Amino acid sequence: MEGEIFTDTTIKKIIERYKTIWALSHLSALGSWDLEVFMPMKGAFFRGEALGRVSSLIKRLFLDKEFVGLLGQAESKLSKLNDYEKGVVRVVKRELKIYQALPSDFLEEWERTTNQAKVVWREAKKQDNFRLFQPYLQKLVELAIKKAEYLGYSKHPYDALLDLYEEGWRSEEVEEFFEEIYQPLKTILNRVISGKNYQPTHPLEKAPYKQKKAEELNCSILDKLGMDWQRFRMDVSAHPFTESISADDVRITTWYHQKDFARTITATVHEAGHALYELQIDSRLATTPLGGGVSLGIHESQSRFWENFVARNRVFLGLFLPKFAQLSPEIEKFIKKEGVGGIYRYFNLVRPGLIRVEADELTYHFHIKLRFELEKGLIERKIKVEQLPELWREKMGEYLGVKPKTDKEGVLQDIHWSMGAFGYFPTYSLGTFISGMIKERLEKELGEMEELIAQDGLIKIKRWLGERVHRFGSLYSPKKLLGVVVGKPFTPKPLLNYLRKKFLEK
Ligand code: MG
Repeated sequence: MEGEIFTDTTIKKIIERYKTIWALSHLSALGSWDLEVFMPMKGAFFRGEALGRVSSLIKRLFLDKEFVGLLGQAESKLSKLNDYEKGVVRVVKRELKIYQALPSDFLEEWERTTNQAKVVWREAKKQDNFRLFQPYLQKLVELAIKKAEYLGYSKHPYDALLDLYEEGWRSEEVEEFFEEIYQPLKTILNRVISGKNYQPTHPLEKAPYKQKKAEELNCSILDKLGMDWQRFRMDVSAHPFTESISADDVRITTWYHQKDFARTITATVHEAGHALYELQIDSRLATTPLGGGVSLGIHESQSRFWENFVARNRVFLGLFLPKFAQLSPEIEKFIKKEGVGGIYRYFNLVRPGLIRVEADELTYHFHIKLRFELEKGLIERKIKVEQLPELWREKMGEYLGVKPKTDKEGVLQDIHWSMGAFGYFPTYSLGTFISGMIKERLEKELGEMEELIAQDGLIKIKRWLGERVHRFGSLYSPKKLLGVVVGKPFTPKPLLNYLRKKFLEK
C-alpha cells in the first residue's frame, strides 16, 4: 500500500492531538520496560508515582472537551470515512468510553487496592497462605463487579470485563468454545498418556546448559526469523514479556534457568512472535490510534504460532541440532545418541501438571477453562472467594487428574487476579485456537509448515503474516480481522485437527 491513508480533516485533527497521548504512552512503556529489566529495586516507588501521574495526564487528554468534540464530529460523518478513518473512530471511542464510564474516585480506589493486593499476593504465595490474600481478593472482586456495572453490558457482567481484553467477545461464546474443545482435548490427552510408549519426563529437563551458549543460540534463532536488530532487542527478566516502545523499537525479554533449555528457546520464540506483530504494522499507522496490535487474543495467536508451529517443529529443531549440542557436554551426548527424534520428544512432552506456565500444548487449555469458570463464578456471585482453594483442587482433579497440595501451586500461582485482571485468561486459549485457523489458511496458500521450514521458508511465513495479519494494526476489530485473514468466523476445529495429527498419528 502506498500514499496517504488519512484524508478527512477531522480525523487528521484527532490524529494530531492523539500524538501527545502517544508520546506519553511511549515514555510510559519505556518506564515500565525499564522497571522490569534494569531499574534498581528501590526505584519502584517513585517509578510507580511517575507512571501514575502520566496515566492521569493521558486520561485528561482523552477527556479534553475539544478532543471529545472532534470525535463526535467524526462519528456524525462516519459513512463518508474510509476504513482506516473508521478504525480510528472505533479505537478512540472504545478507550474514551472507559474513561468516561469510570469515576475518578473509583479509579483511585482501584489503583490503591491493586497496588496493595499485588504486594500481599506475592507474600501470600511465598508463605503459601491464601487467607492472607483472601480479603484483598474479596475487595478486588467487589471492585471488578462495580467496574462491570459502570462499563455496562447487555447480558452478563463478565462480558464487560472480557471486552476490555478481547473486543467483541461475550462470555457465552467463551463458554461454548470451552465446551467444544473439552471432550476432544480430553480424548487426545487420554490416548497420549495411556499410549505404551508414553514418557512423562525427559532427561534433558535436568541437563544443565551454559547461559552464554544459550544466549548465542537464542540470537541465532532470532536471526533465522529475520529479526531486525536495529529495531529490536532482547534482554532478561523474571518473566518473559514484550514491550512495544515505538514502531521502530520493540523489545522482548527471555529467561534462563541453567537447566531445561527448551524453556528459554520456546519463551524467546514466543515473545519474538509478539514482537513481529508490532514490527510489521504498516508504518503509516505509527503514532496513530491504530498503531498497535488489536487485542490480547490476536497477539497471543502470533506468539503461539511461532512457539508451537515453528519452535516445536521437528524440521526447525533439526536446523539447530549442532547449536544445541554446544550447550553442554550432557546435551551433546544425548544428541549423539538420540538425534533429532529425542530433541523433538523433549520439546513436545505432554504431562498433566499443576502449573499453567509450564503446561504443554494439550493440557494448557484445561488450566484456562478452570480459571475462566472460577472468575466468571466470582463476578456473578455464584462462587465465594473463600471457596476458591477447594474448587481449584476439585477442578484440577477433574480436568487433569492432579491436585495441588499447596495453594501456591493452586489458586495463588498467577498474578492476574491480584492486578484485578478478571476476563484476561480466556484470551490465552482463544489466541492459541486462532493461531490454528491462521496456520490452516497459511498452509493452504503456501504449503505445509514442515516443507516451508525445510526450504528455508521462515522469511516467507513471516512476510505472509505481515501482509495478511500484522500490517493492519488495530484497523479491524479482532473478529473482523479474523474474517479478513481466514474468511470465516472463529472455530476451534483447525487447532484440534492439528493436535490430533501431531500427537496421535506419529
Ligand atoms: Mg504471550
